[in-house]
Amino acid sequence: MGLLEEQPRRLGGGQSRCPYCGLPQDRVATLEQDWVLLEPDMNPLAHTVPAEHRWIELSDGRVTVYGVCPPDQFQRCRIEHRLACPAQPLPDLWPWLTSLRGENARQVERRDDPEPPPPPEEWPDAG
Ligand SMILES: [Zn+2]
Repeated sequence: MGLLEEQPRRLGGGQSRCPYCGLPQDRVATLEQDWVLLEPDMNPLAHTVPAEHRWIELSDGRVTVYGVCPPDQFQRCRIEHRLACPAQPLPDLWPWLTSLRGENARQVERRDDPEPPPPPEEWPDAG
């Protein structure tokens, strides 16, 4: 029987260290009564971030996913630390591209006689 390990306390937000890389991350309450760990001091333009990963700050300090589409040109947002974490795999940021790649991969496999691309020819001498 070991000693009970003290559970990490749920503080009212603030910074914590990423368990993967050790860098600080902001712990922010969301509208859904949950927490999200955001990259500190990072406010990219919303339209440069995939739609499901844009967090915007509300007047009460909580954050929510920015659902406006198309996003306002000047709207800034925040991103989760896990997107910027060097020690975690990048999540699937563009699911439709991933499914398109899968679709294309299946298309390649289905081809009976895959023709290799023609070898690069030298430019004909125009002179
Ligand atoms: Zn990290």
